[in-house]
Amino acid sequence: MLSSGKKFAGSGAYAWHRRLAVVAALAAWVVLPIEASDANWLSDVFSPKPDKSTKQATSPKQATAAKPAAPKSQAAKPAAAAPRPVATTCDPAKFRIVLDVGHTAKSEGATSARNVAEFSFNLRLAQRVEQKLKSAGFAATRLLVTEGKARASLVKRVAVANSLPADLFLSIHHDSVPNSMLENWEFEGKKARFSDRFSGYSVFVSHTNPEFKTSLEFAELLARELKGRGLEYAHQYTDPVMGRYRHPILNKETGVYSYDDLVVLRSTRMPAVLMEAGSIINRDEELKMDSAERRDIVSGAVATALKKFCDARRPASAHPDGAATAPQDHPVEGSKPK
Ligand SMILES: [Zn+2]
Repeated sequence: MLSSGKKFAGSGAYAWHRRLAVVAALAAWVVLPIEASDANWLSDVFSPKPDKSTKQATSPKQATAAKPAAPKSQAAKPAAAAPRPVATTCDPAKFRIVLDVGHTAKSEGATSARNVAEFSFNLRLAQRVEQKLKSAGFAATRLLVTEGKARASLVKRVAVANSLPADLFLSIHHDSVPNSMLENWEFEGKKARFSDRFSGYSVFVSHTNPEFKTSLEFAELLARELKGRGLEYAHQYTDPVMGRYRHPILNKETGVYSYDDLVVLRSTRMPAVLMEAGSIINRDEELKMDSAERRDIVSGAVATALKKFCDARRPASAHPDGAATAPQDHPVEGSKPK
C-alpha cells in the first residue's frame, strides 16, 4: 500500500525478525531485502523530507550492488566509477529495470484481511515478475529488496536506483484502506481487520520525477495491459471518502493516478512507476492476490508492457527494416547524464 507517512493502518504484527540479514542486505540485490516500513500502507513510501533522499542518493556507499547469489565479497563491489546515463534506447538484454519490493521484512506495510504482511505479497509477486522478465530476454532485471525501517529504506531504494542508474524503476505494492474503514472479524481464531469496500489495481506516477513523461508512458502501458487481462482498477482514490489520500486520476479508463510526493517516484532520476497490484484488505481479492494464477496475470502484464516500452526505443538499426521506430520518435526528456 502507498502511505503518506502519517498515521495510517496500524499493522501490528511484526512476525519477521531478520536481523541477521540487515547488514548483509544493505546493498544486496535480488535475494536480500533492502527495505522496511513503518507499519503501514503508504508510510514507507512517502516522506515529508524529500531532500534527504536526494542527497544520500549519491553516496557511493549506497551504490553497492551485487548479483543474488554472489558471495559477500563480490556483493560489496562498488558501482562503476562512471555511471552510465539512463537509457534512451532499449536493448532488452541490457535494459536495467529495477523491481522494487515495497516495504521490508522489518516494516511490512499493510496487513491483509488474513493477517499476512503486505511485504510477503510484494516479494512473491516481484519474484514472479523478475522470472517473467528474464525469460522474456530482460536479463539485466534487478529485484530490489530493502532492509530496515520505512523511511531509511526509502533512501536506500532511491540511492541504489540512482547509482546504477536504473533505466526504469517499478515499485510493487498491494493496497489497503485508511484505518477508519476497517471492520473487525476473525480468521483462524485470530482477530483480523478487513474492508470489502474497494478492490482493484492502481498505477501511480509523480509529476516531480524528472522523467515524468516517460514514467507516464510506461504507467499507461502497464495499466492498459492489466485492464486488458480483465482486471479492474481501484476507483476510490478520487473519492472524497479517501480524504487526504485522494489523488488525481490521469487516465480514467485504465487507472493511472498521480501521486507527486511519493519518495520513490520523485527522488529517482529515471522513469519511475508504482503499482498497487490489488487489494489485500478485501477478503475476496486477498485470496486472488495470493494465487499463482494472479501473479502470472500481473507479471505477464508487466512483461508485455515492458516489451512494448522497449520496442518503442529500439535503435533504428535494430529493426529488421533498419528504420521503423527511431528513438527520436519517443523523446525521453531530461534523460541526459546528470
Ligand atoms: Zn505498500
